[in-house]
Amino acid sequence: MTAIHDAELSQPIARRGLMLVLSSPSGAGKSTIARTLLETDKRFALSVSVTTRKRRPSEIDGVHYHFIDVDEFHRLREAGALLEWAEVHGNFYGTPRAAAEKAMRSGQDMLFDIDWQGARQLQEQARSDIVSIFILPPSMKELRTRLLRRAEDSPATIAVRLQNARVEIQRWRDYDYVVVNEDLDQAFSSVRAIIAAERLRRDRRPGLFDFTAGLLAEEF
Ligand code: GDP
Ligand code: ADP
Ligand code: 5GP
Repeated sequence: MTAIHDAELSQPIARRGLMLVLSSPSGAGKSTIARTLLETDKRFALSVSVTTRKRRPSEIDGVHYHFIDVDEFHRLREAGALLEWAEVHGNFYGTPRAAAEKAMRSGQDMLFDIDWQGARQLQEQARSDIVSIFILPPSMKELRTRLLRRAEDSPATIAVRLQNARVEIQRWRDYDYVVVNEDLDQAFSSVRAIIAAERLRRDRRPGLFDFTAGLLAEEF
């Protein structure tokens, strides 16, 4: 190994946060998995998107989304305030740039609940920081059942989402990992395993430089 190489290796860049991207067709259980993850793993913060969609009865402005109108959305987009944006099921969605960049700089892990168009845009900007997981339903019948049982969307909205599911499912190849959400506990365990392994990756652990140097300096 050359001296220059050694010098570079001895000065690792500060650890950046992990960007976990979760996508799925509507109703596959992505938000349920995301919620459990946020409750059980305090290292993750949710990237709260802006959206022009109407708020569902169970949603809180500023917690699940920042609910904004189309004019405000265009304003944010034109101002470059969105890291990525997409039109999904007839509404606009976008990731606020400032919050995500601040979290990443401080080493905080961030969870992005975004669609495949947004996942693709993030991949183009920050490939090495991103871990992406695609959640699939066990069957189309079950997908429909879950959307009906959730009872937060109108029948017309559910019909649009089921129609779009066929297009979305075809994006599975764009993701690092694919999890079929049949049993929720099992699906969540799989997501946990993915995160655990990704956190152990050598290139996400600058602390190993000091640790191994310490080991080598020790007597037997
Ligand atoms: P900021 O640009 O530093 O304020 O980053 P934020 O992530 O806090 O917010 C991004 C944008 O979302 C802001 O510029 C606001 O226009 C909008 N926004 C933030 N919070 C709310 C909220 O609670 N409700 C609504 N409707 N919009 C919000
Ligand atoms: P998404 O965010 O992908 O649109 P949700 O997380 O809102 O989907 O899940 C849709 C519905 O299905 C919710 O009512 C949720 O409680 C339910 N659900 C999620 N995962 C499972 C599962 N493994 N088995 C049965 N129901 C589930
Ligand atoms: P929902 O309306 O069910 O909350 O979300 C609909 C779809 O929009 C989901 O696939 C969700 O992941 C996606 N979505 C939510 N926020 C964003 C965002 O900021 N950017 C992009 N590209 N997609 C988003």
